[in-house]
Amino acid sequence: MFMKKKNIFSQIINKEIKSNIIFQDIDVTAFNDINPLVPIHILIVPNVYISGMDKLSKDNIYILGKMLFVSSIIAKKKKISSNGYRVIVNCNKHGGQKIDYLHLHLLGGCDLGKMINLSN
Ligand code: AMP
Repeated sequence: MFMKKKNIFSQIINKEIKSNIIFQDIDVTAFNDINPLVPIHILIVPNVYISGMDKLSKDNIYILGKMLFVSSIIAKKKKISSNGYRVIVNCNKHGGQKIDYLHLHLLGGCDLGKMINLSN
C-alpha cells in the first residue's frame, strides 16, 4: 500500500504482519512497541520509507512535524499528557537504532526520571 522497501515496520504499515496499530492516516502509522519498556511505549513511523533521522531532507522534513503532532494526540488519548511523557529518536549505531526505519518512541505512563537507556 504505502511502501517500497521491505522491513518489519513496512510490513506493519501494510498490515502484512500482526501488530497493534493504534493510529494510521495517509502520512504516519503508530503501533505499540512489541517489547514495551514502560506502560505506554508506542512507535510512530512515516508511511513512506526513511531509514533514519540522518536521512531527513528539505523534501521530507514535514513528516517529522506530523509524527510529533500525532505523538502528542496519542499522548492525550492515552491520558499521559498532563503527567508528562518523552519522545525519543535513536539514530544509527551509537544512538542505539536497531530497526532501519525512522521511528519515534513515545514513552509514558510512569515517572521516566533520567532514563536514557532504550536498549531491549
Ligand atoms: P530502535 O532501537 O530505536 O531501533 O527501536 C526499535 C524498536 O522496535 C524496539 O523498541 C523494539 O522493541 C521495536 N520492535 C521491533 N520489532 C517490532 C514489532 N514487530 N512490532 C512492534 N515493535 C517492534
